[in-house]
Amino acid sequence: MSDSSDVRRERLIQLYRDVSTCTRCRLNETRTRAVFGSGNANADLMFVGEAPGAEEDRQGLPFVGRAGQLLNQLLAEIGMRREDVFIANTLKSRPPGNRDPQPDEIEACWPYLESQIQLIEPRVVATLGNFATKKLTGSPTGITRCCGTPQVHELAGRTVFIYPLFHPAAALRTPSVLERLREDFSRIPALLAEPLPDEQEALQIEDAEDHAVPADQLDLFA
Ligand code: URA
Repeated sequence: MSDSSDVRRERLIQLYRDVSTCTRCRLNETRTRAVFGSGNANADLMFVGEAPGAEEDRQGLPFVGRAGQLLNQLLAEIGMRREDVFIANTLKSRPPGNRDPQPDEIEACWPYLESQIQLIEPRVVATLGNFATKKLTGSPTGITRCCGTPQVHELAGRTVFIYPLFHPAAALRTPSVLERLREDFSRIPALLAEPLPDEQEALQIEDAEDHAVPADQLDLFA
């Protein structure tokens, strides 16, 4: 393991401790356990859901209920496992009775998600449902209008693809949503292989250098 991944791991562990004891919003009074997120700390693909539900709150792990089982299945269908990705949420604590996250709770929790993105350095951040999508894109456009279309954004100081997707819980309720989610999932491998715009620029510069007239031949055209 390189020095930088050791440092990254240490910072993630410290962040995990901070989240576990967080009292930044009222949800610490009602949660059983904070849910930091789980998976591969070097993942190219990160999922961001809404907030822990009852089962996640009990286990301290994200997406371990029915929506999580669907997420596992959709990942398997594109040849990926949970261990290949990192899964986090917009809120780290369960809202009581699974009510919607409140704007002040989303704001209070944002620095944790931002630090996770900064440390994990994903290429693609797949946002599951409206809350994660609106927070990360900074746009009020709802998920029905923007799902399946990658967007380029600066997040935590890095350029990433944000890939808005329907929330798996919505797909469990509505067959047409499941069909759309499955279709959008099938495009994830190609998106992971696609160069980000800053990488494209670097490739173009390299290409231009390869085709540049060598300095020692410039005299020929003088
Ligand atoms: N729904 C979410 O948004 N996150 C979870 O962790 C579980 C269900």
